[in-house]
Amino acid sequence: MTYIKVIVLGCSGTYPESGGACSGYLIDTGETNVWLEAGPGTLPNFLLHQQIENLDALVISHEHIDHWLELPVIYNALKYGLNVSVGREGGNAKKSSPDPLPVYGTAGTLGALESLMQKSLFPVIDFRVVADGDEVEIGNQSWRFCQTDHSVETLASRVSVKTDAGSVKTDGVSVKTDGVSVKTDAGLNNGNGSSDEIDEVSEISVAYSADTGVDWNPESVTDGADLFLCEATFASSANSAFNFNNSSTTNGLSSGSQHLTARQAGELAKRGGAKRLVLTHRRPNTNGSEVGGGTGTGTAGGNEDGSELEDASEIENSSEIEDVNEVKSEDTYFKEASEAFGSPVELAEVNAVYNIVSTMS
Ligand SMILES: [Zn+2]
Repeated sequence: MTYIKVIVLGCSGTYPESGGACSGYLIDTGETNVWLEAGPGTLPNFLLHQQIENLDALVISHEHIDHWLELPVIYNALKYGLNVSVGREGGNAKKSSPDPLPVYGTAGTLGALESLMQKSLFPVIDFRVVADGDEVEIGNQSWRFCQTDHSVETLASRVSVKTDAGSVKTDGVSVKTDGVSVKTDAGLNNGNGSSDEIDEVSEISVAYSADTGVDWNPESVTDGADLFLCEATFASSANSAFNFNNSSTTNGLSSGSQHLTARQAGELAKRGGAKRLVLTHRRPNTNGSEVGGGTGTGTAGGNEDGSELEDASEIENSSEIEDVNEVKSEDTYFKEASEAFGSPVELAEVNAVYNIVSTMS
């Protein structure tokens, strides 16, 4: 069985909502674990799901601090918690010799990290600069990078795993179509297309937008993607506080802060050919997040009690999730994105788990 499991470690844009964390996703494909985006607050959530010894690499999309500021803390965990003994080859067993953790990111991210740390990252971290069009193999995961429309060099990504011919089934936080209103189907294997039978599948894949404005062609990462994590910072252009439609371009990079509204994310995902859309990187206290706004409203995370967090990772049977999504059906953020995408979208929640599974036919 081949699978990609995506676990949300944080999904707030710009700064974390109450009880939340900025961007972070664990991409688990069985033999390989890659941590995508190390936003502030993501390490404690990572540790709920995986040991840092089992981490194979980190991928950071760009230099804005809500996407990488946990890295110096991860450095501490590696150096002082593990003595740099990242036991990737031996499962949970620590290796006797230091083994730096590969971190893939832009040159700008390396510069920002070095200026903050003021010391050599090596041998704790082995930073490997990547750019538009680069492809890297990390264990059984194939990664491809594509520059987006953002104020600094920013890399969207697609991670894929080769698979034998068969069918693909996705589940996780699921929705069922009812016009554009949504009710959670706690039983999964729902009727909205999330359970997807496809013959002759050669790979399963997950796409990630990183941060972007509307002037990005997403197809090289989103076409046919089984799951697309797309930023939707704003509920509507009315609450995009700055420069939303007022940018200029210099050297191929846009000035101003280029982000998407929920509707624009839906349009982009549809244009890009993604099969399933999960909105993320929502800025706290925007119009959309005030209603059913993730863990901050005491929903999936249930943050008062650690045991509830544990339950939240078993999201299949959570009646709380159902309540949340019923609230979200009223939400402009959700509604406009679903209209634009053509089927109900899903909203990222901390500790939500999405499974993409390929089974032999
Ligand atoms: Zn950014």
